[in-house]
Amino acid sequence: MTPITTLHGIGTRIAEQLAKLDIHTVEDMLFHLPLRYEDHTQVKSIADLKVGDNTLIEGTIQAAEVKMGKRRSFLCTFSDGTGTVMLRFFHFYPAQRQQLKQGTRLRCFGKVSQGYQCLELVHPQYECTNDINSATLLEEHLTPIYPSSSQLNQSIFHSIIDQIFEKQEIVEYIPASIRDKFNLLPLLDALNILHRPQPNLSLKILREGKHPAQRRLAFEELLAHHLSLYALKIRSRTRNAPSLDNAGQLIQTLLAQLPFKLTNAQQQVYTEIATDLRSTHPMQRLLQGDVGSGKTVVAALSALQAIESGYQVAVMTPTELLSEQHKRTFTQWLEPLEIKLTWITGSLTKKKREQTLEKITSGEAALIIGTHALFQKDVEFAKLGLVIVDEQHRFGVHQRLALRNKGSQEGSYPHQLIMTATPIPRTLAMTAYADLETSVIDELPPGRTPVSTAIIPNTRRDEVIARIQHVCQNEGRQAYWVCTLIEESETLQFQAASDTTEQLKKALPHLNIGLIHGRIKSKEKEEVMEQFKAKELHLLVATTVIEVGVDVPNASLMIIENPERLGLAQLHQLRGRVGRGALQSYCVLLYQPPLSEIAKSRLTTIRENDDGFVIAQRDLDIRGPGEVLGTRQKGTLNLRVADLQRDKALLTDIVEAGKLLFKDYPEQCQSLIQRWVKEGLHYGEV
Ligand code: ADP
Ligand code: MG
Repeated sequence: MTPITTLHGIGTRIAEQLAKLDIHTVEDMLFHLPLRYEDHTQVKSIADLKVGDNTLIEGTIQAAEVKMGKRRSFLCTFSDGTGTVMLRFFHFYPAQRQQLKQGTRLRCFGKVSQGYQCLELVHPQYECTNDINSATLLEEHLTPIYPSSSQLNQSIFHSIIDQIFEKQEIVEYIPASIRDKFNLLPLLDALNILHRPQPNLSLKILREGKHPAQRRLAFEELLAHHLSLYALKIRSRTRNAPSLDNAGQLIQTLLAQLPFKLTNAQQQVYTEIATDLRSTHPMQRLLQGDVGSGKTVVAALSALQAIESGYQVAVMTPTELLSEQHKRTFTQWLEPLEIKLTWITGSLTKKKREQTLEKITSGEAALIIGTHALFQKDVEFAKLGLVIVDEQHRFGVHQRLALRNKGSQEGSYPHQLIMTATPIPRTLAMTAYADLETSVIDELPPGRTPVSTAIIPNTRRDEVIARIQHVCQNEGRQAYWVCTLIEESETLQFQAASDTTEQLKKALPHLNIGLIHGRIKSKEKEEVMEQFKAKELHLLVATTVIEVGVDVPNASLMIIENPERLGLAQLHQLRGRVGRGALQSYCVLLYQPPLSEIAKSRLTTIRENDDGFVIAQRDLDIRGPGEVLGTRQKGTLNLRVADLQRDKALLTDIVEAGKLLFKDYPEQCQSLIQRWVKEGLHYGEV
């Protein structure tokens, strides 16, 4: 790839500025697309100007004066024989006043606005045309305006682009046969259109991102990302993994001991996983299932298959709270089968930690539960066969790979089961998760009653508090009060939650109220959760730490304060903490008025839907893919020209094109990945 500094006029200073915009090579500049365009190709008559036009005019200054008024300004009366406009400058200097005097001919470009007496151009760009034959100097192309920094002049970009189109080779990696099939412009044509657009090009279509030239580039970029993940999947089929095929007895025992029967969907999904686990290549499977669909028991069955085959299983969670919940659940299920499990978190004492590590290294512990602390350097597994990652929306592809590699032993990789309650719309999954196989649990266990959701302004807080009193005292139920804060700071979150707890204790003196948040010690956290489970606490005030995995069926009311701050997926997750039994549950979205239109429509989506897949699709429509994939997730697609929301219609074609390209043009695939996916080389090593 040619460094940008090989071009004429690009010294270190400019190169440094360009680097800040992530432009290092000639190719980077080609894909640094204009933000918008200005039309300097034709001069308009002043008589034809309309408010809002961005336009080029040419004429003569009739009069120039400094007006005092509210804001001092320098005004030029400017005519071209068809009409008159005012050029207005709030900032001006003496030389400018010297130049812009009666009789000076100018060409001006600017935005037309409505002034006091007539139309105005405020701070237009202008050039003096007294001595030039102006007709010859009009631009041939629309003028692209590039995203830039204050240090870089647009003319630098124009010069770079001119040089590239003159001298550099622009390599096409999508073969003609595939371009024809999917109706794609050649790359050079597309780049020409976008960097040097003809005057008759529709700026409206460009602004909407619907031009075939834009489509071509978006297609190429998304294709490259898809290919990089797809290549990973193919490569992982050449890796070795232990075949976990010695299963049956323990699984039957667990099934017999459960107080429920598996749903058909759970059964189906477990069969898919069991088949994968018997393979000698590592499973990479994404298990999607709505909140409460019963993923944990599927994880337990998978774990038993590995354990019975003589391997260890690691269960990794994003939060300590969820790992504690799993510790309880798995202990209850696996202890009767005499399977040893252990729990590792960041908050163990040194001594306890050493003991735990010893159990893991010796192989004494068959099931190991923990947060990312599971994969710290000093944790060595005796014989790891399966890694289960719960609530995967927080992990990106890099983390998935890092995990798998850490668990590898002597050229053999553990199987991976990745579980998420944030359903990912299919088209999006095909691109962002193309390295994974997917299974879906598409039904809830029987006997659930949908949660009834209300949207209530904070001005009615007292009514809501009275409602808690009623539900907890008269009905013997329990409730959650969830505090949300935008700040990432745990200290502030803690502060907000403990203030709220104090208020609620005053307002509800007869109730036992507990508090749980990210900062309390895990032992204390566990105690509070135990008390809540044992119904010793009526009301649990919490930060969003309870988002995942907490399971208390007697809780039937949840208040979410300032729900407008959270993503839809997160709200849906939170609400999933109630409605876990047959009894009618309620969720109150206690918002801070006024609500924006978008916020209103988002909360309404939550109120009217209880299917996580539908909610995720709406989220995608309203807010775009960042939200759906989880904003906290690292390693989501880092897109330069494509926009998953705008370009989602391309995704189906991209999957198809990817297959063709991968089969017949492997070299081009590699080049495409290198061009677009900065981490592409990194994937290659894995
Ligand atoms: P999630 O998919 O959100 O992780 P869980 O695995 O926590 O869901 O399951 C939610 C609740 O449903 C748990 O209390 C679990 O014991 C129960 N459950 C799971 N499968 C079934 C089933 N087939 N029938 C009845 N209840 C079930
Ligand atoms: Mg779960």
